[in-house]
Amino acid sequence: MSQIKCIGILTSGGDAPGMNAAIRAVTRAAIYNGFEVKGIYRGYKGLITDEIAPFKTQNVSNIIQQGGTILKTARCQEFKTPEGRKIAYDTLVKEGIDALVVIGGDGTLTGARIFATEYNYPIVGLPGTIDNDLFGTDTTIGYDTALNTIMEAVDKIRDTATSHERLFFIEVMGRDAGFLALNGAIATGAEAAIIPEISTEVDQLEELIKNGFRKSKNSSIVLVAESPITGGAMHLAERVQKEYPQYDVRVTILGHIQRGGSPTAHDRILASRMGAAAIDALLEDQRNVMIGIRNNEIEYIPFNKAIKNDKPIDRELLNTLRKLSI
Ligand code: ADP
Repeated sequence: MSQIKCIGILTSGGDAPGMNAAIRAVTRAAIYNGFEVKGIYRGYKGLITDEIAPFKTQNVSNIIQQGGTILKTARCQEFKTPEGRKIAYDTLVKEGIDALVVIGGDGTLTGARIFATEYNYPIVGLPGTIDNDLFGTDTTIGYDTALNTIMEAVDKIRDTATSHERLFFIEVMGRDAGFLALNGAIATGAEAAIIPEISTEVDQLEELIKNGFRKSKNSSIVLVAESPITGGAMHLAERVQKEYPQYDVRVTILGHIQRGGSPTAHDRILASRMGAAAIDALLEDQRNVMIGIRNNEIEYIPFNKAIKNDKPIDRELLNTLRKLSI
């Protein structure tokens, strides 16, 4: 094993429910294995401004159920420059931190990969994003909680949509991925999901209209993934309203409600397993890998693979939605 004595943890980029459970797991598993732990505040920014504190087991008590991240998160432009990363490296040396565990999305792992290569520095990443858009893991930390939040919100909107016989376009997050929209649509019995992965192939709205999306139903719900490719819920609603003035069209943008809240059991367990696995990875001299869980098995995914490969949408899910929304 290499000479790692002290491990630093940070959360970066968009926050996601379950990040705290991951911080707890990394901290406790590290201490269990005899490492010192330091918490780095505000993502990569904390490495530049030296906002770092020692973490003991009690620092992570009573946080497994809390949304957000006790380490805070930030976006840091300076870390994208070689000068910024040099300051970050000097801070790590000064603080005696020998390895990093970073929790975040695509951008965070990209930064980790660049830094690790530049300074030959050991980093293990955990996939923390509600978007579920990282290759190499079945789900990411926060995705299940966001999906459940969407489900509860759409159920409520369904009540009013039915009472007023309305057509609702509901926009959900996902960056350039349609996982939240597609699975959210299946979970809520929505009529359709408009997602970026297939927008380029067919005009989904055209298809919806052609199939007559009201049929005999007295309400319709369409989940739209926010993305320049889909154009967003507002844009689609305007198109439909123009073509079908007889429809009572409404738009709801769920927004940041999707990021918050207490993590589900699934996300707490995922974050706990991944956090413990990050320390195992460092003990096994692994570096520059993301921890993934596929088919219930822990896997080490090289950063390159996790970032570069697109995670495909399961076509079977799309077909299921189509079959069940007749
Ligand atoms: P997420 O991790 O949720 O995808 P961002 O894309 O905002 O969020 O990335 C988080 C942070 O990761 C950025 O603010 C930046 O500090 C770092 N980062 C992202 N891309 C790069 C890059 N190409 N080089 C260095 N650092 C990067």
